[in-house]
Amino acid sequence: MRGVQELIDEFMRRRIILGPDHFVIGDGFGNPGPHTSLYVDPGRFYRDRELHHECVMRIVERMNGHRPAIIVAPDDQSLPTARLLGRETAGRFRIAKIPVFSLESDPIPAPAGDVLVHDDVITFGRQSTTAYRKLLAAGHRVVAFSSLFRRIEEETLLGLPILAAVERTLPTVPEEDCPFCADGIPVDSAHGKGAIFLAMRGEMRVS
Ligand SMILES: [Zn+2]
Repeated sequence: MRGVQELIDEFMRRRIILGPDHFVIGDGFGNPGPHTSLYVDPGRFYRDRELHHECVMRIVERMNGHRPAIIVAPDDQSLPTARLLGRETAGRFRIAKIPVFSLESDPIPAPAGDVLVHDDVITFGRQSTTAYRKLLAAGHRVVAFSSLFRRIEEETLLGLPILAAVERTLPTVPEEDCPFCADGIPVDSAHGKGAIFLAMRGEMRVS
């Protein structure tokens, strides 16, 4: 099994991690949020099936005491990984099937045992904690979070473990503290919320 640094290097080579450049990432609610020099592109994880599978297996290895009955993705973006994770976890625990749902496109399922919330990239954890609250309100018991990439420093959310394939703290700064902004370095408009950020400042139209 490859070490974290080896995987990070591989992510950089495959442009799953982009940078260093000037990126604006979301605030977790679809709005432009803080600025950062490294961007993790969730869509890129799927381009290499072998690497994607390796990352999913790293999550499965961290399950230990967790044996989810249901896996829930906060949105459709994370659904392919959640499904693969469901298959591999069911295989590991020798159970027939772990149902997988997306909170974006599926109705919330009926409570049926422990729930794992899977989000491909945990940037701040807001999507995951929002999913947690929705599931809690529907009577579910969430026992853990999982992610292909955790970029926050915290190892837990709401006191529950984050089972991540790869963890690396990637700092973010508010716009007013951004050294790239101060130096007039252009914002990357192709990734994250850069285009919306520029549009809000009247510097670019969103197509
Ligand atoms: Zn900036």
